[in-house]
Amino acid sequence: MESFINSEYIRNLIKETENASYDDIEKVLDKASLKKGLSHQDVAILLNIKEEKQLERLHQISFDLKKTIYGDRVVLFAPLYLSNYCVNNCEYCGFKRDNNLDRYRLTLDEVTKEVKALEKIGHKRLAIEFGEDPINNNIDYVTDVIKTIYAAGDIRRVNVNIAATTVEEYKKLKDAEIGTYILFQETYDKDKYKELHGTDSLKSDYDRQLYAHHRAIEAGIDDVGGGVLFGLANDYRFDLIALMIHDEELLDKFGVEFHTISFPRIKPAEGVNLSKYNTIDDETFMKIVSIVRVAKPLVGMIVSTREDHDMRMRLINQGISQISANSSTSVGGYEEDNHGKEQFELGDNLTLLETIKDLIKHGNLPSYCTACYRMGRTGKEFHDQVESLKIAQMCHPNAILTSLEYAIDSKDKELYDLAYPFLIEQIEKIKDEQIKDKVKGYFKRIENGERDLYI
Ligand code: SAM
Ligand code: SF4
Repeated sequence: MESFINSEYIRNLIKETENASYDDIEKVLDKASLKKGLSHQDVAILLNIKEEKQLERLHQISFDLKKTIYGDRVVLFAPLYLSNYCVNNCEYCGFKRDNNLDRYRLTLDEVTKEVKALEKIGHKRLAIEFGEDPINNNIDYVTDVIKTIYAAGDIRRVNVNIAATTVEEYKKLKDAEIGTYILFQETYDKDKYKELHGTDSLKSDYDRQLYAHHRAIEAGIDDVGGGVLFGLANDYRFDLIALMIHDEELLDKFGVEFHTISFPRIKPAEGVNLSKYNTIDDETFMKIVSIVRVAKPLVGMIVSTREDHDMRMRLINQGISQISANSSTSVGGYEEDNHGKEQFELGDNLTLLETIKDLIKHGNLPSYCTACYRMGRTGKEFHDQVESLKIAQMCHPNAILTSLEYAIDSKDKELYDLAYPFLIEQIEKIKDEQIKDKVKGYFKRIENGERDLYI
């Protein structure tokens, strides 16, 4: 069966657009500045930007667009690693089965301990991570973990990153009330995919991976996230165009595109020889992020602590709307009884408190908002609200309220003194007078000890 990824078509498109003129690129940038998004053909043209002036224009449009849709808000979350058992042998990963590691999966009591440790740090949103292992990490374990996390206390949204699976198993995830289901294609280049995943593991099946989001949506999961691992493909342009085509395919078939796109770059890991990979330099990476922002104005864009702090701050100014912080990539990494090695090395080791202070110093509004998902604003409903810019009227107030909660609960005077005047300024930015009054009322109630108030 011919999938929606046609390699020959993508390679031809790259060739045909390779000599795009300055004017061709200007035309696409003009279209981008209308903030209505771009096709994958436009993206192919933008990939040819070389002139400094055009690059600056791209970054500026991207930043303006992000401000229009999302305001100053940056959503924060932490990854939580549950199990490093894995039957696959992805060449680039520290958890691959050929690595001789101590394998461990957390008991449900340990999950509760991890959640308490994460809550103490101040986290409210998690992305849970597992290696693939049908016995040790089966779907019942995954859903038990999710239930345990929600029951443990204050975590309000659990996004899930598990290997591609069946509609029946996705239904179980849906019933466990997950937030977004996240899965990366890693690379859309079929030959490269084969080379990196071998022929004898569950993840070797390219099509199983490619149609996983389709199955998740068919199972009723409204929000799905995608991405590629930059550094794997021989030509990153191929993967980026394919990722755009994948997004278009979901929009065509189901009326919803990716809820989020993640931007991981390959990092050093146990048993991984980075010199074998086509690592992406910083300038190209920044260009990729801005291109996706102008092409996909409504998609949440995620960068993790794989990147160093300076790069993360730069990317936020170009379109990134969600970041992880204070992360650990080893099983049980937030409690003292850390089990074994990390999946890959981190580039940003700041604490959540340090991250939040720095976000505010740079005029960004940290957010722990999970209101949409709890109010049923998911999938197409969410998409439509973002499109009509209504969502900004909710995200912005909810970001203010969750930031205030964090500033009070952190008991850090420096943060509180920094955040308080900043949040008051942010309230003044709310245009709708009714919402502004409501936020002022909620602000007072949070100061008086109430929690979890949202619009
Ligand atoms: N095991 C599941 C899977 O492979 O889909 C889910 C979680 S895996 C822990 C999350 C992601 O980590 C993978 O999809 C892969 O892109 C990324 N990853 C693996 N090795 C990496 C490395 N060396 N550097 C950066 N990211 C890596
Ligand atoms: Fe296992 Fe995922 Fe790592 Fe592949 S990327 S080895 S499936 S944990």
